[in-house]
Amino acid sequence: MKTYIVGNWKLNFTVGEASIYLHKLLKALPNYRDIEVVVAPSAIALQPLSLQVDRHKMKLAAQNAFYRDYGAFTGETSFSQLRGLADYVIVGHSERRYILKEDDKMIQKKVAAALRNKISPILCIGETESERAFGETADIIRDQLVGGLAEVSDDDLDKVIIAYEPVWAISSTKAAKMASPDEIAEVVRLIQKTLKEIYGVKTAEKVPILFGGSVNSSNAGAYLTVPGINGLLVGGASLILNEFVDIIEIAKRVRS
Ligand code: PEP
Repeated sequence: MKTYIVGNWKLNFTVGEASIYLHKLLKALPNYRDIEVVVAPSAIALQPLSLQVDRHKMKLAAQNAFYRDYGAFTGETSFSQLRGLADYVIVGHSERRYILKEDDKMIQKKVAAALRNKISPILCIGETESERAFGETADIIRDQLVGGLAEVSDDDLDKVIIAYEPVWAISSTKAAKMASPDEIAEVVRLIQKTLKEIYGVKTAEKVPILFGGSVNSSNAGAYLTVPGINGLLVGGASLILNEFVDIIEIAKRVRS
């Protein structure tokens, strides 16, 4: 399985800034076959960046899309419109769950719509600080996983990526804390167990599990060696080109 390093740019960069960043990233990036480098720019930048990107070196992800392919949905962009522009899409990010009020039903439809349109969903799941404090982490993880994957068939599961992102560890969360490797490993085991229960061992083992939450070049090595972790979803640090390149190089070193 490849190691995934995914940069989530969130609501940052103009189209021009995104294009300059991509230019520099492509220049800095060797063609690492075993590292899948992905960046997720704003939707408006996907089309120009899709013409600029070298897909042998890296891929593009959308940060969001709507689950219907067309119709009277003012302001939305569909997965069918993103076909050919993005290879991946981030679905269920905590900022969409908690700020934009997306629930598991909506996320489930988005996962299905992404797969229908040949875009691989990166399904984000994770508990809040208070859910963890109340001992609800396992229930939340299981519910978000089962809910998000409800429409995913056995045949499609190998196109899905799971990102464990504890909300309390995401850098934009007030007083964010660093997750420890042990805390992550425990949740990864739960994700693996749940996937195996639903899809069987062989199918479940094909699903990459990423970690996200205040990842930077100082902690990436430790997070990448957590058992069961196949990559990182990087927010804030992915906006700094040198940091992002360092994280990719750390991933390469950890792999070899
Ligand atoms: C994210 O929002 O997906 C994320 C991981 O952000 P950060 O790395 O900034 O915590």
